[in-house]
Amino acid sequence: MANKDVTDPARMEKIVSLCKRRGFIFQAGEIYGGLNGCWDYGPLGAELKRNLKDYWWRKTVQERDDVLGMDGAILTHQDVLKASGHVDGFNDPMSECPLTKARLRADQVPAASPGTEFTFLGATDEASGKSTDKPISILIPEGKQEPERSAEKLASQFYRELLGAGSKPVVGARDSQPGPVKGALYNPDNGVRLSEPRSFDLMLSTKLGALAADNDPKALAYLRPETAQSIFCQYKNILDSNRVKLPFGIAQMGKSFRNEINPRNYTFRSREFEQMEIEYFCHPKDGLRLTDEWLEARLTFYGEIGIPREKLHILDIPDGERAFYSQKTYDIEYEFPFGIQELEGVAYRTDYDLGVHEKGSGKSQLYFDEETKEKFLPHVVEPSAGCDRTVLALLCEAFDEETLTDEKGKDDSRTVLRFVPRMAPIKVGIFPLLKKNEEQVRICKEIQKTLQPWMNVFYDDGGAVGRRYRRQDEIGTPFCVTVDFDTLGEENPDLKGTVTIRHRDSMEQERLPVSGLLAWLLERVR
Ligand code: ATP
Repeated sequence: MANKDVTDPARMEKIVSLCKRRGFIFQAGEIYGGLNGCWDYGPLGAELKRNLKDYWWRKTVQERDDVLGMDGAILTHQDVLKASGHVDGFNDPMSECPLTKARLRADQVPAASPGTEFTFLGATDEASGKSTDKPISILIPEGKQEPERSAEKLASQFYRELLGAGSKPVVGARDSQPGPVKGALYNPDNGVRLSEPRSFDLMLSTKLGALAADNDPKALAYLRPETAQSIFCQYKNILDSNRVKLPFGIAQMGKSFRNEINPRNYTFRSREFEQMEIEYFCHPKDGLRLTDEWLEARLTFYGEIGIPREKLHILDIPDGERAFYSQKTYDIEYEFPFGIQELEGVAYRTDYDLGVHEKGSGKSQLYFDEETKEKFLPHVVEPSAGCDRTVLALLCEAFDEETLTDEKGKDDSRTVLRFVPRMAPIKVGIFPLLKKNEEQVRICKEIQKTLQPWMNVFYDDGGAVGRRYRRQDEIGTPFCVTVDFDTLGEENPDLKGTVTIRHRDSMEQERLPVSGLLAWLLERVR
């Protein structure tokens, strides 16, 4: 198994910079300093995301007989999330750095390296006579020159904040011991010991309707933290209105909201994000088998969108670490440049969800099997994927820098996004060799009109053709069509009506008749 801690920050930086430069992803509210944990997809990012969602919907709902789609409300009745356990239990442990005030998710703080922990017990500002006995502990790693001085410097900063701007704290009593101290957490940026974790609620709430004016608790509603709950709440309606039989699934994609303590790793952990979830209802005896089947189906899906099997890791969550109601949970993880991290969870949730909603609503959620005359609560297998995380994985997987040698033997390099064609935001670049040649331009526009109802294309007549190819390579366009003098049949009448098609990955070119272009492309981009 690949090492979880291997990272490539330089590669990640290049991907982030390309995404901004070419209009895939922008920070939300950037001109006002940015809204932390929220992202806007630009023109190319929106196309990429749409391709992913459309393909997921097609494969999950439209090409299966046993899965139906739904599109539920984002605003969620408080009782739904009370019954599901989110209101009381959807929280993360949070610790604070007393020096920087940074708030960190305690279960994600990396283990500290061995060193010495210095504890300072207070300080005095001689000029004002003010003093404090607030302690601060700082872990200085082994090998650092003058560890006590380094720690004291940080402690002075801390006491300066406490004693007021302009103060010159004299740091008093101190203590030291080998660290890290068992059970303690340290800020990875400065070694300062973090506060004891406290529980932080991840739910985002709002007030709905006119009762909001009086702060009436009945006005409280939530922005859903997952798409799953509306599926469970509508399971009975969908069952009754569609005459389906077990096993069957309900799929939904859409926005979810979590007030994450530390949004980070670009779009990986956001506060507003999209999920693609399936709740697959089945007889209890089939739950474990179907969980394995769904895992395979989801791995096949990732292969089809260009995320190879060898970059995916399956974590079979052991007993004791799964949610108490789950009999089996797999995490599907991907090798991001910032480490191996979760893309999707496939969980066998038993009858927990329908059970809690039956209890919470007082409405029976039982299924009646016409053949066996059995009445029971269906069990559920849930493949739950993150759309934004998958988009990020697609970008990370596609990003490549290639060194080339041109015809004159000169070194050259190009940046390529090697998306599989079905995910590429633009499928075809269409270029006239010479933008001043009216006939070439006319034919290009005709090709554009023919292809546009079927796929996203881009017409470009700016600069040398080589430069235009590179611009398309950088955004992952798999094919470029060039209309040239041969298309007009000026030199060789046999080539009249043909165009050059250039392949992004191999950079090879071939000639195709314009009349066969649409069929040729459709075979390759769906
Ligand atoms: P994590 O452990 O990373 O917080 P989770 O196990 O809580 O994730 P689930 O509740 O199982 O996540 O949600 C299912 C999927 O939704 C995840 O696999 C992930 O792809 C996506 N997801 C969850 N939280 C976020 C987030 N804050 N930003 C982007 N995607 C998310």
